Amino acid sequence: MTKNRDVSGILADVGLSETNSGSFNGNWVESGKERITSFSPVDGSRIAEVTVTERETYEQTVRKSIKAFEEWSMVPAPERGILIREIGNALRLNKEKLGRLVSLEVGKTKSEGEGEIQEMIDVADFAVGLSRQLYGLTMSSERTNHRMYEQWVPLGPISVISSFNFPCSVWSWNSFIAAVAGDTVIWKPSSKAPLTAIAVMKVVNGVVKRLGYPDIFSLVIGSGSSIGELISSDHRIKLVSFTGSIPSGKHISTVVSGRLGKTILELGGNNAAIVSSKSDLNIALKGVAFGALATAGQRCTSTRRAIVDSRIYDSFVEKLVKAYSSVRVGSPFEEGVLVGPLIDGKAVDGFLKAIDTAKKEGGKLLCGGTRLTVKGHEKGHYVTPAIIEASKGMTIDKTETFAPILYVYRYETLEEAMDIHNNVPQGLSSSIFSNDVREVEYFLSSRGSDCGIANVNTGTAGAEIGGAFGGEKETGGGRESGSDSWKNYMRRQTVTINYGKDLPLSQGVRFDV
Ligand code: NAD
Repeated sequence: MTKNRDVSGILADVGLSETNSGSFNGNWVESGKERITSFSPVDGSRIAEVTVTERETYEQTVRKSIKAFEEWSMVPAPERGILIREIGNALRLNKEKLGRLVSLEVGKTKSEGEGEIQEMIDVADFAVGLSRQLYGLTMSSERTNHRMYEQWVPLGPISVISSFNFPCSVWSWNSFIAAVAGDTVIWKPSSKAPLTAIAVMKVVNGVVKRLGYPDIFSLVIGSGSSIGELISSDHRIKLVSFTGSIPSGKHISTVVSGRLGKTILELGGNNAAIVSSKSDLNIALKGVAFGALATAGQRCTSTRRAIVDSRIYDSFVEKLVKAYSSVRVGSPFEEGVLVGPLIDGKAVDGFLKAIDTAKKEGGKLLCGGTRLTVKGHEKGHYVTPAIIEASKGMTIDKTETFAPILYVYRYETLEEAMDIHNNVPQGLSSSIFSNDVREVEYFLSSRGSDCGIANVNTGTAGAEIGGAFGGEKETGGGRESGSDSWKNYMRRQTVTINYGKDLPLSQGVRFDV
């Protein structure tokens, strides 16, 4: 499969074997008889098996997580940061090996696979600094000899339910921040990428054990409808941070809010780039192509729509089609490949079905749109990335097809471009390519992009960890990773201290007894 390493070599490098426990709660638990097989999208082959977490083990995991929370939440935050610093260092040492496993299990190219681990390292660095900056505000009390301030208190055990396409970085966005905030974390990764989760947990928990901290990170593996439902309906889990599709997110949101629990929802996107005639077209071309093709269009921030100024539409689209024809699709282990496989056969079927619907709705297929057989990897899940000229009244372009399909639109005025841009249910990432300050400021105004992320002269994909990541509308409204997202993992407590010899009441209320 790879030039230098076979599958068993990749597994051995990260401490995995033919059959692996999918349950960690201080120890690896040989939980159940039921197993999940992890298949590689690269060639459709079976990689290894994972035992699914049984209900009893889940119960034990939650109880242990609560116990670990009691201890961990009392550790000073800067000291919690030291653990995360050491975890970041361990990930640095294992970056290449873990990156290779990501490529094998979800089909990311080498640089993207390693980028996934780099993102975890970046979040770890961020979390270390944050561990000394969990600030609250101080207010002036209206009462004499009173002090008022707010403090942030750890929340409790939380859970992270993650999607296949960021098989471990999404966990770290949540978990490293939650850990410095004093929470413990139960992770349910995607059943399509369980091995990456197990390998990461081995590295992370090796550090936790070595430094003698409580077992703050645990792992459960199983389907959304079994273990996922247990988590959503479990009142002991204070926050469910969910990353996945809009239908799953809507359901989880209903279940968790039904018990008045908290959620962070990071759901599907339908991201667009506006390309103005006043842009640097080389930057725009690269930004749109990378956004649409990276991770084979399987990023939540993938560019799914390009809205192009009619003055440059024909030449820009022609260049884009040409760029697509030069992009190599194939095994992520091969040098020069920029687009790997889709995750599974179902994803390929979804891609083909969307192309078919788009054509029926009047869309014009400009390139790609077919299943691709890659020599030596005949059972892999490859497609040729598609560009479709959108037609008026099309509906398929309003939904997220998690595959490399780019719809292109022509616009006459920026107002019209903005209408096309915002006329979808999702609101994750957006971008404009323009060197005209008026256009840029319009895009950034309240009449402009309605997304959680708005980029100028850089594409929709590839967010940095330092900003708060997330989207509006059906993307769910969640924010993770940078900025003040840490507040989601803590509860705010407003404190009033009376240090006087009287009991004055607020608003001048009198109560003389
Ligand atoms: P998915 O919704 O099929 O699964 C995501 C996770 O949810 C998995 O772990 C799955 O087992 C679990 N799940 C499913 N049903 C559940 C239930 N009833 N209860 C609890 N858990 C349940 O999504 P996917 O195919 O793995 O990932 C692709 C989707 O994720 C795309 O829509 C993509 O846009 C989205 N995504 C969003 C972001 C973001 O930050 N906004 C990031 C990555 C991926």
